[in-house]
Amino acid sequence: MERLQKAMAEAGVASRRASEKLILAGKVAVNGKKVTELGTKVGVHDEIVVNGVPIQREQHVYYLLNKPRGVISSAHDEKGRRTVIDIVHDEDIDERVYPVGRLDYDTTGIILLTNDGALANKLMHPKYEVEKTYIAKVNGIIKNDELKQLRLGVVIDGRKTKSAKTKLINIDRNKKTSLVQLTIHEGRNHQVKNMFKAVGHPVIKLHRETYGPLNLYGLQPGEFRALKPDEVQMLK
Ligand code: URA
Repeated sequence: MERLQKAMAEAGVASRRASEKLILAGKVAVNGKKVTELGTKVGVHDEIVVNGVPIQREQHVYYLLNKPRGVISSAHDEKGRRTVIDIVHDEDIDERVYPVGRLDYDTTGIILLTNDGALANKLMHPKYEVEKTYIAKVNGIIKNDELKQLRLGVVIDGRKTKSAKTKLINIDRNKKTSLVQLTIHEGRNHQVKNMFKAVGHPVIKLHRETYGPLNLYGLQPGEFRALKPDEVQMLK
């Protein structure tokens, strides 16, 4: 839900201030009822009519992308590198979508793109604790007590990480590397890399497999698909 004048401004009706004037002047109706209160909240499905004309509101869209390596996960890059937004725009999607959270330039895997700011903010809020599962290839042969430390929490920038889950997938004794699945509920900057660094095993390769109830089934790196309505519902 958002304020009526904000929804009007976002739809390009007028500035927020001018939209407030239209509301106060009794020119605006929501779902067929005249509204003159500035605090009125509207949802995406409410019909807003201004001076008798229904306004066109951008539909919310949700895409699930398998981010390849070497792509930036912010909307813009000052160095002009390819971004996750470029990937969807190349396929003639022209809604203004934004990534929900970040994956590093060299991290691959699942990332959600949407123009639904309210849902994006909710998903990124630590309170909602969206579970994310990563597969990390790390340097060195990781020991059980190091996995335990990861589960119980390690100190990064003076703050302990919350409890996590780990699963040792493989140890390559020749190459002296380990493959570990790590599940966390937080989204601190470079969190997974910093967690492994804290236990003495720098990450060589990182991939995010799942995001809440969503996984990458059927999506090759660089491919994306729209979420199904029931998947959107699961996130809300
Ligand atoms: N943690 C990291 O260190 N990097 C990512 O890209 C995602 C989580």
